[in-house]
Amino acid sequence: MWSVKDQPKITVGIMDRQTEVAGRLRGNYSGDEFGLVSGRFSAKTEAETIVLVDETNHEICRSKSIKLAGQKGSTFSLFNVTIGNRFHWERTEDQTFQGDLVLGLQKGGTIVAINEISLEDYLISVISSEMSGDAPMEFLKTHAILSRSWVLAALDRKKKMNGKSTPVSKTTERRGEVICWYDREDHELFDVCADDHCQRYQGITKIISKQAEDAVRETCGMVMTYQGEISDARYSKACGGLTEEFDTAWGNRRVPYLKSISDASVPHRPVTTEEEASAWILSNPEAYCCTKDERLLEKILPEFDRETKGFFRWVVEYSRTELEEILREKSGFDFGTLQEIVPLHRGPSGRISRLRIVGSKRSVVVGKELEIRRFLSRSHLYSSAFIVKAEAERFVFHGAGWGHGVGLCQIGAAVMATRGFSAEKILKHYFTGVELKRIY
Ligand SMILES: [Zn+2]
Ligand SMILES: [Zn+2]
Repeated sequence: MWSVKDQPKITVGIMDRQTEVAGRLRGNYSGDEFGLVSGRFSAKTEAETIVLVDETNHEICRSKSIKLAGQKGSTFSLFNVTIGNRFHWERTEDQTFQGDLVLGLQKGGTIVAINEISLEDYLISVISSEMSGDAPMEFLKTHAILSRSWVLAALDRKKKMNGKSTPVSKTTERRGEVICWYDREDHELFDVCADDHCQRYQGITKIISKQAEDAVRETCGMVMTYQGEISDARYSKACGGLTEEFDTAWGNRRVPYLKSISDASVPHRPVTTEEEASAWILSNPEAYCCTKDERLLEKILPEFDRETKGFFRWVVEYSRTELEEILREKSGFDFGTLQEIVPLHRGPSGRISRLRIVGSKRSVVVGKELEIRRFLSRSHLYSSAFIVKAEAERFVFHGAGWGHGVGLCQIGAAVMATRGFSAEKILKHYFTGVELKRIY
C-alpha cells in the first residue's frame, strides 16, 4: 500500500523515438551541468549522446540524460507533438507544459521527451483535456479520484516489479485461433504516456478549467482502495446497461471489485445464453448510460468523440463482400466466402470474448473483446456486445454499449452526477466493495 508524505511526482512520456526534439523554454531552466537557460532549444543525438543546443546553435550540454528543471512559474513548449496516435484524426501540434523537461536516450539512438510533474498538476490537465469544465462537479470529482487511483495503481505495480518491465498483453496463436488482449504495458523510461493508451495528457496547451482544478484540489490525495490496495480503476465510455468483468477484456483472472453490475436503479439479470443476449441487445432497458441528453454528452466527451451517436444501442451493416474485405485486411486471413459468425463465449454484459468466423477457406476463433472489434470494422466496432443477422448477402450487427464496459461507465457516471449522486456513491456503484481513502 502506498503511504506518501507528499504528493508523488510522475514522469509522462510526451514524444517517443524522435531523431530531433525542438521547443521553447519560457522562464528559467537549469541543469546539473549548466546554468540558467531560456528560449528556443533543440536536441539531437550524436555518437550515443544527446546534444542540446540553444537558438544560436551554441552547445548547452551533452549527456545520455538531460534534465531541465524549471523555476517556479516557468513553462516549456515542445514543437510537433503527435496527438491522436494511431487514430483516424492523428496530427501534430505544439504543446506547452509545467514542471521539468527530461530528455533521455533510447535504444537505437533516438530521444524521448518526458515531462516530470506533480501528480495533482498532471490530474488537473488530464481532467481538463478529457472533459469540459461544464461537466457536473461530482462527475469531475469522480474522475479525479478514478484517474488518481489508476496512476497510483500503475506506479505500485511498477514498484513491485522493481523496475523490471514485463509485458502483460498476450497472444496465443494456435492453429485457427487468435486470442489476444492489449493491457497497459509498463513503459520503460517513464511512468505513463500522454496518449489514450494510458490517459490523454496535453499539459497546459488547452485552457485548464477552473472546475477541473477544483475537482482535483477537493479530492487531493483521495484514492479507491480494496482490502488495503489501491484499486485498478478501469473505465470505458458506455456499458450498455450492464458492466463487464475483467477477464472478458484482459487476462484470465477475477478482480473482486470489477464485478458485473446493473447500471440502473433497477436490477438487470446478467446475460448467460444466446437467447438472453439477443433479448438484451434488442431491448431498450432503463440504464444511467441510456441518455440522449446532447448537452450533457457534449460536456463529458471531447469534441473528436462527439460524432459517435447511438452508442447505447447501435446497428452496423455490411454487404458480404465488404465484410470479407475488412476481415482480410484486419486479420490477415483469407476466409474465402464468409459463411457464419458464431459467438462462442460472452461475458455478463453480452460482450463476446470468443468468436468463431467461418468462411469457405478457413475458420478462425478470435478473442478477446478488443481484437473482435478490430477484426470486424475498418476502425473498431463500438463494442463486442452484438448479435449478427445474416440476411441475403448482408451481415447486420445489432450491438450495445461503447468500449470494454469494465469498471466505471463514463456516460452513466455523468448522468448519475446530474441526478444528485455524490462522487463516493458513484464510485461505489461501479466498483463493488471499494473504500475511499486519502493517502496524502
Ligand atoms: Zn501508455
Ligand atoms: Zn452504463
